[in-house]
Amino acid sequence: MRKILFSSSEVHPLIKTGGLADVSGSLPTALHLQGHDIRIIMPAYRKCLEQLEKIHPIATLKLDGFHLPIEIFQSTLPGTNVPLLLVHSPQHFDREGGPYSSPTGEDWQDNAARFTLFSRAVAALAMNQAGLNWQPDVLHCSDWQTALTPALIADLPNRPVTVFTIHNLAYQGLFSREIFDALDLPEKLWHSDGLEFYGLLSLIKGGLIYADHITTVSPTYAKEICNYEFGYGLEGLLSLRAKQGRLSGILNGIDNTEWNPKKDRYLTKTYSIKNLRNKTINKASLQQYFGLPEKEDVLLMGIISRLVPQKGIDLTLEAVTKLLESGANIQLVCLGSGEPSYEQDLRILRARYPDKVGVDIGYNEALAHQIEAGSDVFLMPSRFEPCGLNQLYSLRYGTLPIVRNTGGLADTVVDATENNRKNGTATGFKFDQSNAGELEKTISRALDLFQRPRIWRKMMITAMEQNYSWQQSAETYVQLYESL
Ligand code: ADP
Repeated sequence: MRKILFSSSEVHPLIKTGGLADVSGSLPTALHLQGHDIRIIMPAYRKCLEQLEKIHPIATLKLDGFHLPIEIFQSTLPGTNVPLLLVHSPQHFDREGGPYSSPTGEDWQDNAARFTLFSRAVAALAMNQAGLNWQPDVLHCSDWQTALTPALIADLPNRPVTVFTIHNLAYQGLFSREIFDALDLPEKLWHSDGLEFYGLLSLIKGGLIYADHITTVSPTYAKEICNYEFGYGLEGLLSLRAKQGRLSGILNGIDNTEWNPKKDRYLTKTYSIKNLRNKTINKASLQQYFGLPEKEDVLLMGIISRLVPQKGIDLTLEAVTKLLESGANIQLVCLGSGEPSYEQDLRILRARYPDKVGVDIGYNEALAHQIEAGSDVFLMPSRFEPCGLNQLYSLRYGTLPIVRNTGGLADTVVDATENNRKNGTATGFKFDQSNAGELEKTISRALDLFQRPRIWRKMMITAMEQNYSWQQSAETYVQLYESL
């Protein structure tokens, strides 16, 4: 049994912008079920305070660099018995909007201060300086928002071992030198083997430089970030960590209770390998929702995504337009939000092909489940993808993923080559080069196989039999904690 403090800036079901929240809800829950004494710590955003029923203050702290004292609140993660600690600083976290940005989508101006305050509070708890009489053996941090803590405690005696997980290296928490000064951070951290990155303050380097071990969320992404193309200038440091045996990839799991076609409360009709016919009822509902003709023989393609360049939305738009122009028997339904230009382009495509394309701009948990269940294939032509969760949900729902061969997508989808089909391992479709032509060819390949129901059905079953539960990943994390 280990004592673990799990620090994250977003935790499902309280607040979420992406996969990090899913992981921060599921992994601690899995570790808790395995008997570990794990506590999650996150900022007390207004959204969390509104949702949590039982919540009480357990400590007051005064942190370096901040005038007002802060409070630590305790609660439990909804739907579990996992202890949840919240860092309460109303002027930093009790406001309308998302965890990093205002209701209109602009990053908060004081993000550096907000997450420095949070990281300092986590450091106090990690060092048992909050009067709680509890010190973790392991401090597990994720992404730049939490990355300062390993740096702050690196030199202290009797500190916990530190693990830092990269969920997406594209987000690094870069700020100016002036901000470094304003935050009253120790001057000894300002050098190229510290937090400095070409004259800027790089918060993610707190984790990359000072954590005892770095993980990322898939084995392939762990290799990719050691290269120029994916490393954002940090590839040298990351290659060194890999050589030192201090960087590894552990694939994310999925929450099998939440994402289960047998029990999913959002579906028109639940289904399983034994009654796959019921999946088509969900397809009809989805077509109806988007005002598309309810046809069974059309290949219905789903997308649920942040609309950002990473996700290859532009490739999808181009490839799907070509296919629609050529009269391919396809439909596309897309749920997402993000860059206005992509939102606009999707709406235009919808206007041009109202009986082929459905678009819903926004964030919608129920619809996400319905798209996973009702679609025949799921599109994820990402330029890079640290792990990706939607392709894992898709596998579980028998919705064959069409993915680019990168990161976690490469690790979890088996391409429908003739060989893989013959040996019964194929679960989806993959392509290598990041361009619309390749995607178009791959969709055509899927369309061909879709005409062969026996093969398709076999692939659906193989996909649904894959096991990406958290239990397995959680055990790998425990082995890592033990090894440190
Ligand atoms: P990323 O973390 O890069 O956004 P992932 O595939 O790892 O990508 O995780 C995305 C998560 O967010 C999934 O659980 C997905 O279902 C969810 N998601 C993304 N966009 C939406 C949306 N518009 N509505 C509902 N869920 C969404």
